[in-house]
Amino acid sequence: MATGKINVSVENIFPLIKKFLYSDHEIFLRELVSNATDATLKLKHLTSIGEAKVEYGNPMIEIKVDKEGKKIHVIDQGIGMTEDEVKKYINELAFSGAEEFLNKYEDGAKESGIIGHFGLGFYSAFMVADQVEINTKSFKEDAEAVHWSCDGSPNFTLEPGSRQERGTEIILHIAEDSTEFLEDSRISQLLNKYNKFMPIPIKFGTKTETLPKPEDAKEDDPAPTQEVDNIINNPNPAWTKQPADLEEKDYKEFYRELYPMQFEEPLFNIHLNVDYPFNLTGILYFPKLTNDLNVQKDRIQLYQNQVFVTDNVEGIVPEFLTMLRGVIDSPDIPLNVSRSYLQADGAVKKISSYITRKVADKLNSLFKNNREEFEQKWNDIKIVIEYGMLSEDKFFEKADKFALYPTVDGTYYTFEELQEKIKENQTDKDDKLVVLYASDKVAQHSYIEAAKAKGYEVLLMDSPIIAHLMQKLETSKEKLSFARVDADHLDNLIKKEDAQISKLSDEEKETLKKNLEEVITDKSYTVQLEAMDSDASPFIITEPEFMRRMKEMQQTGGGGMFAMGSMPDMYNLIVNTNHPLVGEILNTKTAKKRERLINQSIDLARLSKGLLKGEELTNFIKRSYDMVK
Ligand code: ADP
Repeated sequence: MATGKINVSVENIFPLIKKFLYSDHEIFLRELVSNATDATLKLKHLTSIGEAKVEYGNPMIEIKVDKEGKKIHVIDQGIGMTEDEVKKYINELAFSGAEEFLNKYEDGAKESGIIGHFGLGFYSAFMVADQVEINTKSFKEDAEAVHWSCDGSPNFTLEPGSRQERGTEIILHIAEDSTEFLEDSRISQLLNKYNKFMPIPIKFGTKTETLPKPEDAKEDDPAPTQEVDNIINNPNPAWTKQPADLEEKDYKEFYRELYPMQFEEPLFNIHLNVDYPFNLTGILYFPKLTNDLNVQKDRIQLYQNQVFVTDNVEGIVPEFLTMLRGVIDSPDIPLNVSRSYLQADGAVKKISSYITRKVADKLNSLFKNNREEFEQKWNDIKIVIEYGMLSEDKFFEKADKFALYPTVDGTYYTFEELQEKIKENQTDKDDKLVVLYASDKVAQHSYIEAAKAKGYEVLLMDSPIIAHLMQKLETSKEKLSFARVDADHLDNLIKKEDAQISKLSDEEKETLKKNLEEVITDKSYTVQLEAMDSDASPFIITEPEFMRRMKEMQQTGGGGMFAMGSMPDMYNLIVNTNHPLVGEILNTKTAKKRERLINQSIDLARLSKGLLKGEELTNFIKRSYDMVK
């Protein structure tokens, strides 16, 4: 028997591993199963090129939990190791790798947001075990079995082993503080999380399978059962296949496999598949999204060669796409670095822009090939597209061709179509195209109707981030402005050459203004006299676009340099000096009657903007009954 001391300069490497990687102890199993998988795939390769003269067969990996003996076994039928290989790969490489990793980790740990602890390898076993044994036998002809054992100090023993078959068994003697891992349910959970799609079948115990009843069975004979291996993984998940070999139903099935608790079907999927200049495969799904931006993150799962790494893909996938679901698998993403380093990495940048491009292309082809379906889905996908247009200029360029702008009546225009449709009627005297929109069809009904009466199109823009997008469109396109239908009166929103002439003289206007201001004491209204069409409303309450939009933008993050979030709402009270009712108010001599007329008119204007509430509403109703009596 050989004994020795593992040659590491960090004498107390095991306590260090435990201390530094405390939160991630569970990954030991992922690492050991990964090693077992590698060992099996290596053998597959060697047999395929004729370098290993053994039968490859149908190897599997087995996990066994021995609760009484406080042991976990990870067994594979891969290439195994000779004595020299154990010395080299375990004693030298594995542990020097550990040291290097820890040095790196110590620096990185101070930065927030380290991704997983990938590449930790064999020695991660010591996070949960106080003794680790290896029983291994190489596939090589005449290889002798080897037994290695190490108790968590740098001292190990190495002696001839008793393993009969080729392959490796790792035995972990679980430490007192890690007995949670002796529970079958905990191991099941880990296998399901990390190993669900690994390429070699993984067996964990057995399960009972019901067989079909034999022909001659009686009605109430129980169906026969048999014990079969419980294979916990799907070694050939959809994303590893060629898109041409998959049908729509395969993609849907895989979605259910990924998200068993998700009952809603995805809207569509995007199959990612590149091998140059980096390697990346995956399937992204567009789920039905709500308008709540915060609840739907961290659903895309990141894999490396079918091993689950994380479901936090921030930094790898552009932010706006983190609302999607699915899988990305790439061996080219450096994962043992901090997030900030990751974002600066050249390969990662390329991956991120490739994904963005693929998503844009897919949306574009859906739009081109089936416009009707695209329109139907628009409401469920717009948030991703609008967010993408805001945050990625490259995406904006592409999405500008297929992003849709629905009208309040349910017609969908692209921006170009909209422009074509409205340019005649909605270009103002300064040659600016004015796009009118509503954010709420019900609340802004009277304003929408007034705009429609003038032949204007009114869009329905109700996404939470739409204010930001309008801002972006206004700055990236020339001579364009968006205005909500209630931002001003229509003649002001779209100013035309032929301005209305006021029926009132300057003197009359003075008197009217004085009369109005005597009655209107609420400081949040600014009275504004305007000469408008005589059949336009006599009183209109408006909310200036700029202030309102800035406030909205602040509520959804960012937006302007002014702190407007806490400013009170400000309204204009537009008085149409050409309306007969306004003329009547001016001509009413009794102050009492005039006050009543003014109050009633203003209340009607507030009512149509949804601002009349509480005591004021009660007074209004009372006054109205008095008037109709
Ligand atoms: P890595 O897997 O990143 O190379 P590890 O520390 O996990 O690092 O393992 C070190 C080496 O030990 C591996 O590269 C491999 O040669 C060998 N090894 C580990 N586990 C097995 C196994 N189950 N079968 C055969 N060889 C193994």
